[in-house]
Amino acid sequence: EGVLSARGLRVEFGLPGGRVARAVDGVDLDVAPGEIVALAGESGCGKTTLARALLGLERPTGGSVSFGGEPLRFSSRALKAYRRRVQLVLQDPTGALNPRHTVYDAVAEGLRIHGIADDEPGRVAEALSRAGLRPPEQFFLAYPHELSGGQRQRVVIAGALVLEPDLLVADEPVASLDASVRGEILSLLLRFKEDAGLGALVITHDLGLAWSIADRIAIMYLGRVVEQGPVEEVLTAPRHPYTRALVSVLPDSPVAEPIVLAGELPDASRIPGGCRFRPRCPAYASGEAAAVRERCEGEDPVLAGPESLRVACHLVHARMVA
Ligand code: SF4
Repeated sequence: EGVLSARGLRVEFGLPGGRVARAVDGVDLDVAPGEIVALAGESGCGKTTLARALLGLERPTGGSVSFGGEPLRFSSRALKAYRRRVQLVLQDPTGALNPRHTVYDAVAEGLRIHGIADDEPGRVAEALSRAGLRPPEQFFLAYPHELSGGQRQRVVIAGALVLEPDLLVADEPVASLDASVRGEILSLLLRFKEDAGLGALVITHDLGLAWSIADRIAIMYLGRVVEQGPVEEVLTAPRHPYTRALVSVLPDSPVAEPIVLAGELPDASRIPGGCRFRPRCPAYASGEAAAVRERCEGEDPVLAGPESLRVACHLVHARMVA
């Protein structure tokens, strides 16, 4: 009930010259009510496109999205009903708010779109209060430029909460905020989870942030999830060579030496053959993966392992079996 699921999800874009960018390339992911899942990876790895597909803002070119066991349908009516239950919180509150709309109108907009007319002021006040803007009536007639960055992000969150969704998809929710207010916004997400059982998918490139709020984490590389599991296990004992490199540069990292990855994240229209991480993989380059070298070169690994902790790497799979 209320689980958002992606299975084999693909989103491809045609490019000039007949090339195809495989921005999301076969992703399996679940977010359950009352849990926070972090989706982490470098810029350009497909996180935002995946989120847009989960929200029905991007039509998948393969695989499926379902919510509560029901496949997501793309009629405007079905999407409208779906978006009431799964709400987006954008990264940049300034861009998300119309500068000519008051706080009241910004928060009430969702109610009006969905034709919810009863007790509009009460619902707006409740949402603002839950988002930490108190007393809420004091903010009703304020305009975005009269608010701090943190307050604007709270208005955006109130605009999502006013529809009483089951799930939030938050794209880099604190990336544009001062360090001093980041913690407050993250605490809000934790409070929604604990008090109201609200689930969230939090998209971030910041593993420290993921550590502080998520129950589970999915690490994405070039359109695929390459490792997923409980956040503590993944970040204290990373298995995939890509996750190890990301974790190696964190303060107090469990990985002894910082790992600098060779090269740049490839273009999604030029995904390498075999394992897509191979051209940058320290384990392949150092010979650590010699026993599985041919498989690294010939076959893109899929997520495997215990249901709770899965990794897409031939070397890790071979070690699991050994
Ligand atoms: Fe590296 Fe091979 Fe694992 Fe890919 S499958 S991450 S190349 S060791």
